[in-house]
Amino acid sequence: MTHALQHSPVLQALLAALPADRIRLGDAIGARHHTDWTRMDPQCPLALLLPRNTEEVSTMLRICHAHRQPVVAQGGLTGLVGGAHPQAHEVALSLERMNAIGEVDVSGGTLTVQAGAILESVQQAAEAAGFCCGLDIGARGSCTLGGNIATNAGGNRVIRYGMARDNLLGLEVVLADGTVVSSLNKMIKNNSGYDLKHLFIGSEGTLGIVTQAVLRLHPLPSTTQCALLALPDLDAALKVLREARARLGGSLSAFEVMWPNFYEFVTRLPGVDSPLQGQHGMYLLLEAQGGDEAQDGARFEQLLSHCLEQGWLADAAIAQSMQDQQRFWHLRDAVAEFPVHLPHRSTFDVSFPLDGMAQAVQQVEASAEAAWPGCTRMYFGHLGDNNLHIVIDVPGTQGSHAPAIEQLVYDCVGALQGAVSAEHGIGRKKRQHLAVTRSPEEIALMHTLKQALDPLGILNPGKVL
Ligand SMILES: Cc1cc2nc3c(=O)[nH]c(=O)nc-3n(C[C@H](O)[C@H](O)[C@H](O)COP(=O)(O)OP(=O)(O)OC[C@H]3O[C@@H](n4cnc5c(N)ncnc54)[C@H](O)[C@@H]3O)c2cc1C
Repeated sequence: MTHALQHSPVLQALLAALPADRIRLGDAIGARHHTDWTRMDPQCPLALLLPRNTEEVSTMLRICHAHRQPVVAQGGLTGLVGGAHPQAHEVALSLERMNAIGEVDVSGGTLTVQAGAILESVQQAAEAAGFCCGLDIGARGSCTLGGNIATNAGGNRVIRYGMARDNLLGLEVVLADGTVVSSLNKMIKNNSGYDLKHLFIGSEGTLGIVTQAVLRLHPLPSTTQCALLALPDLDAALKVLREARARLGGSLSAFEVMWPNFYEFVTRLPGVDSPLQGQHGMYLLLEAQGGDEAQDGARFEQLLSHCLEQGWLADAAIAQSMQDQQRFWHLRDAVAEFPVHLPHRSTFDVSFPLDGMAQAVQQVEASAEAAWPGCTRMYFGHLGDNNLHIVIDVPGTQGSHAPAIEQLVYDCVGALQGAVSAEHGIGRKKRQHLAVTRSPEEIALMHTLKQALDPLGILNPGKVL
């Protein structure tokens, strides 16, 4: 510690301005802060900063700015693109001590939260006050609201509540030079000039540090209907999607499509069983959550009957209990076990226009089979959000084909005007593929914004752009 301090004016300045427990060096930082969920290339940062409030974040950034010291924001470190991954010469700024959750404003249905709060705690606070937090992702027990905002996260229930962006009314951010911009708006209508929060949502810690947010909450649903469905093909799934939107409206809460190779793989795993008979061309987990106990169940069953009559469904299992619902979701969530069963797989989080989805899967199938005959391929995703997840594994190669697999998938994304990132952002991992999805003019405008807000380039360098 003494050695690092002697040679670092920025660390000396930080220690002089802040209480000692706000700064950790060397072994005291802990390996957790050396990388994110990607586990890519772990690096011990120069220091770990642990502010307790917005003023301390401001002081830290003001000092780092004055010394041109690069800073990487860290939340729950569940990111899947290396966005919070530090370099050895960078300072990591963790929001983990800024986790206060305010009172729910019952009249407006809003909740003001510090950025380091764990998403699951935010959801629990909303529910305790009789509201629903529309934001929900698989990493809810570890990820932070600040990380969710910085990545514009969204998971299974985006079809109903939208992405993080759609659930935010206000933000407080600290700019690269330490300026605090507090825009903790609680009103739905506020067109008073530029809506600045949108600059920072999804900017992955490159434009400012999010310190607080105002969430827009939703009514807590009182009913849940859930079914696991077998369909002949993707075309039928798209027809069911249109019908479900028309008949269930805002209560449609999940539309998870699984291709047969995914379904057959997960139902062979220990503890995962299929409630459906036979083999089918496509599988669908359909869920609706509503507030009308008298009508919701009947409406859901009428939808399924109609789809069955139209020939869009081959088989259906409707959950009769909470245990059934959990069993169906367990099947979809078995993806969490892939790291154990396919440790060297390549995984992709991409989007395609719905009318190009079938072609995308066909193209990846054909190219992957031609390149690596018999390799494992799996497809699943949040179809209603255009989001496709792809898993490719070439057995016995220890992941050595990963760059070629990436090229194959992103060539397809480019050709069909998809997006290289649907949910997870760009971070470090997808940086070289940004131009597949964004035009030169879009990327030039991103650079202009970065230059305006962080002219010295100290915030999360080497990420996104
Ligand atoms: C099991 C699992 C399931 C997942 N499921 C989903 C899913 O369904 N949908 C989805 O969208 N993602 C999903 N993810 C990815 C990940 O959880 C999200 O990207 C999440 O939003 C990251 O939050 P975090 O707090 O862990 O952020 P981190 O990983 O710590 O950081 C992510 C990025 O945000 C920046 N950042 C963090 N905090 C701040 C802040 N306060 N201000 C400014 N920048 C900040 C970091 O610099 C980095 O660029 C999943 C991950 C796992 C491991």
